[in-house]
Amino acid sequence: MSKKDFYETLGISKDASESEIKKAYRKKAMKYHPDKYSSATAKEKEDAEHKFKEINDAYQVLSDGEKKSKYDRFGHDAFSQGGSASGAGGFGGFGGFGGSGGFEDIFGSFFGGGGSNGPRVEPGADLRYTVEITLEEAAKGTEKEVKYFRKGECHTCHGSGAKPGTSTKKCPKCNGNGRVKEIQRTMFGNFENVVECDRCHGKGEIPIETCPTCHGTGVEKEKVEKNIKIPAGIDDGQKLRLSGMGEASENGGPNGDLYLFIRVKEHAVFERHGSDIVCEVPISYTKAVLGGDIQIPTLDEAIKIKIPEGTQTGKIFRLRGKGMPSTRGGRVGDELVKVVVETPTKLNSEQKKLLKAFEDSLKDKNTGMKEGFFKKLKDLFK
Ligand SMILES: [Zn+2]
Ligand SMILES: [Zn+2]
Repeated sequence: MSKKDFYETLGISKDASESEIKKAYRKKAMKYHPDKYSSATAKEKEDAEHKFKEINDAYQVLSDGEKKSKYDRFGHDAFSQGGSASGAGGFGGFGGFGGSGGFEDIFGSFFGGGGSNGPRVEPGADLRYTVEITLEEAAKGTEKEVKYFRKGECHTCHGSGAKPGTSTKKCPKCNGNGRVKEIQRTMFGNFENVVECDRCHGKGEIPIETCPTCHGTGVEKEKVEKNIKIPAGIDDGQKLRLSGMGEASENGGPNGDLYLFIRVKEHAVFERHGSDIVCEVPISYTKAVLGGDIQIPTLDEAIKIKIPEGTQTGKIFRLRGKGMPSTRGGRVGDELVKVVVETPTKLNSEQKKLLKAFEDSLKDKNTGMKEGFFKKLKDLFK
């Protein structure tokens, strides 16, 4: 398969809509349609054929939601197994277009020409699993047990589908090719397509006697229980790809993958902002005025920090290195402690009297913030 970027091939951007993709494909396919090159030189014909194949490869993937998202995530690697991207296997047998060869002939040679590549091998399905962890676990890294059922290799026949001790015979439906012809509908009309044989699942052979456990499919339901390491620093919504932990293939392909989606539970006091964690700590009015030690939580333990005299509400103190690590290593984030001054309520008359006396003693000194504010107001309404 061509390794040229599929979006580039169709001349569209990565966020092109479904109809833009279709339009671009139609335009390009018309331009390089081999019918247009019937009287061209051999070299021109070859170039056009190559282009046409690239365009079709690109469209097969980008027009299919599932394949497109795989391609967006993994690029061409997503389809390196058996060329399943094109849905037509390799184009190995692609030959020249003889004289009057029309479009249908071309499609015939496209899809039929792959016979020499042998049966197509499809990997097993990918699976998704969600694990929930705490912020503390995300900070330190953890290990979680995952338990699920999947299609695994049949333990009786080890995936062959044949009863142990018996042999296989040529599949009568596809005559051993692993592929059968089918009519494919495209925007250019109906064409003959070659698809995987559903009787033998592309193997070309069927067991003389099928395996009694899996009835010939080669797979059976299997329980998986495994401990998975989750790296320190992982964030809510991230996923881990566990290669080969998905379902077994029914025709000898590799296993699919398991995608472990991480959900980090909301924390009672911390909020994560990238690699920093933020918390609000209430302090008393007198503590804010006089300063002193306050107790604050961190991801490991409660610690004491000293706040200075005259701390205003909303002041943020930064504790270096008390935040989250990164899954890629490097700098550990900080903890940001925002202090909030709690106004005392339900005071008795004695306390109110004391506060009034205190207020009088200030005699409008020590009110820089208030004065600054009123000066701004005056400026506004001048
Ligand atoms: Zn068959
Ligand atoms: Zn079996």
